[in-house]
Amino acid sequence: MFSVLHIDNSTFFKKLLKDAFTNHGCHYIPSSNMAAAFEILESQRVDMILTALELEKGNGDEFLKQINTSKFNNIPVVVISSTDSLEKREQMFALGAIDFIPKDISHDQIITYVQKLTRKDIVESKLKELSIAVLDDSATSLNIIRNILTLNGIKNVDYFNTVDDFLSAEKVYSIYLVDVILPKMSGEHLIFELRKKYKNSVIIAISAIDHYKTISNILLSGADDYIMKPFNTSIFMARIKANVRTFLLLNEIEEKNKELSRMVIRDGLTRTYSHNYMYERMEKEVKEAERYKKKLAVVMFDIDDFKKTNDQFGHQVGDMVLVKVADTIMKSFREVDIVGRYGGEEFLVILPETDLDHAKISAERARGAVENIVFREKKLKVTISGGVAEFEKETALQLVEKADKLLYISKDNGKNRIS
Ligand code: GH3
Ligand code: MG
Ligand code: MG
Repeated sequence: MFSVLHIDNSTFFKKLLKDAFTNHGCHYIPSSNMAAAFEILESQRVDMILTALELEKGNGDEFLKQINTSKFNNIPVVVISSTDSLEKREQMFALGAIDFIPKDISHDQIITYVQKLTRKDIVESKLKELSIAVLDDSATSLNIIRNILTLNGIKNVDYFNTVDDFLSAEKVYSIYLVDVILPKMSGEHLIFELRKKYKNSVIIAISAIDHYKTISNILLSGADDYIMKPFNTSIFMARIKANVRTFLLLNEIEEKNKELSRMVIRDGLTRTYSHNYMYERMEKEVKEAERYKKKLAVVMFDIDDFKKTNDQFGHQVGDMVLVKVADTIMKSFREVDIVGRYGGEEFLVILPETDLDHAKISAERARGAVENIVFREKKLKVTISGGVAEFEKETALQLVEKADKLLYISKDNGKNRIS
């Protein structure tokens, strides 16, 4: 259970937060002063500390300093304050606070804040699986980032204090969070080098510089985004998530594309099976023939002098011939036979449970049918040659090669024939 320690003088605010957190299944622990808070930290597990700046004894600044130098500096601290200015935020950030909640926050905003902390979306759960590298030479800054990421359940992170360690890391990370004000190297140069090395990773620059020229240079050097310091948890996480969402979508599209090309089982022109499909199907049929001791035959066809057809009648007529020949071959075989376009003008037919003689009869039928096609172009005559092979315990590839060799014997013997 997510456990929250809240240190505050205001009973009104305690009631508000108590309701919000307990309604979202969190363990809420109230406290009014620093000493009591430290006692609680010693005795129970706390995932997050919310502290007001005005406390019963002492103030929030003091508390932050003490937390930072204690063994509890890995617990994220969020400051609640009635004064919300950039100056105050910067001051709190410098003390290691990960976020800032103004006291005039509405009830609904509190609920949203708590929901964000407790409800995890898909991007967030994916984010937890991704590897992250963080580089920042400021220990405080690094600790804030660590606390924000830990608070969001993100633990697959390596933290680097120096550019040298960072650059010598061998691992490729999905996300790079890089402070761009570093000794030794300009931020732009570092981002440029990173982008050159890691084309597909998310690179986010972090810095206190708000000079637009610098920011645009850093983005031009290859950073995907830029987060300004001081940042709060919401902005920081929102930026990371927005970038990760794009990263995940791009990866998904890439995967889908690969899958699609694997899945393309029909040749676009002739609608016979694709080369890829035929290759996989051959493997399967060979295995089956082997295991069940079944007959298996293949025929390799090639259109004769197809180059001349193209030259004489044009490529478009050539395409039409391919479609017509494919159609004619398909009609010459049984339903169970598998016809595919193996190459440009080569067709492979797989004949399961068929011996050499029967395969030759079908191949001969196809050859005759193609020879008899009457095209609209009166002078156009098309013939095919074929090679027929029967499975004899060789591999799929060897079986295809055997048919191919016989096809070339048909070519050598004058074409328009089957061997
Ligand atoms: P052979 O009788 O020895 O097989 O001679 P060929 O001219 O048929 O063989 P070659 O391998 O020299 O030429 C094959 C031709 O097939 C060349 C190529 O332009 C054509 N081709 C391959 N794919 C297509 C296609 O999709 N459409 C068209 N129109 N032509 C194609
Ligand atoms: Mg040919
Ligand atoms: Mg050819």
